[in-house]
Amino acid sequence: MSSSDKPLLGGIEAGGTKFVLAVGHSPTEIIARHEIPTRDPSTTLAEAGEWFEGQQAISALGIASFGPVELDRSSPHWGHITNTPKPGWANCDIAGYFAERLAVPIGFDTDVNGAALAEYEHGAGKAAASLAYITVGTGIGGGLVLDGTAVHGAAHPETGHILPRRHADDREFEGVCPHHGDCLEGLASGPAIKARWGSSLSELPADHLAHEIIAYYLAQLAHSLIAMTAAEIIVLGGGVMRTGGLLGRVNERASQIGAAYFPGGSKHKIVSPGLGNNAGLAGALLLAPSH
Ligand code: ZN
Repeated sequence: MSSSDKPLLGGIEAGGTKFVLAVGHSPTEIIARHEIPTRDPSTTLAEAGEWFEGQQAISALGIASFGPVELDRSSPHWGHITNTPKPGWANCDIAGYFAERLAVPIGFDTDVNGAALAEYEHGAGKAAASLAYITVGTGIGGGLVLDGTAVHGAAHPETGHILPRRHADDREFEGVCPHHGDCLEGLASGPAIKARWGSSLSELPADHLAHEIIAYYLAQLAHSLIAMTAAEIIVLGGGVMRTGGLLGRVNERASQIGAAYFPGGSKHKIVSPGLGNNAGLAGALLLAPSH
């Protein structure tokens, strides 16, 4: 069937700073795309709804949202953002809003699960059976796809909140996670870097110790993911990962820590997103139920 015969799908990558909207025949056949800044929920959702109403009619909508979110279909709060500290957004019924306004079936998951599914199907994981997608930016989040299915467990993984071993030259910093202090997000997210060294990682000279410290923590995340899930591909995305040389340092450190122990051997790879910055939006379209 030609792409114009396929049903038209909508996608929303709902982020803390912007909403990216798209209409397309598939995650790789996007025909219209639009970005709006994330303001308060009523303004933001109304603006997004208006944009979709101005497009060709869609038959389903996928939403890949910042979290935490409720993913239990039997819960009355399914499709809600839950206890986010982001002002105004706690308990926002994001799926319900679009179900009512656009009157189409809604698929809903975390932004990182969406991105993980998109990387698995169309990006860095195309040749693999398992993949983890990690974003390192304002926070650290991760989604995991094993044998084609995003792992949800009781809700969804919160990979950024594992507890790493402290770097020998980073013992004093308390960490910025409001819940756990020096969890991974508390030590290696963008705000944690800024709190220690006063700037982003990419602004610090290449020989600054910060590069080694952050690489050490992210390597531990990759190591833990491989140890616990045997995921073949670890995709590292997000703003902090755009720092020159960081991916290489993480790879180096991870292979030191791993000490050639894992039975999956060279099947394990730590890579950049194959879809670049489009993983989240492609994930949203993949979540649209009629796909
Ligand atoms: Zn934490």
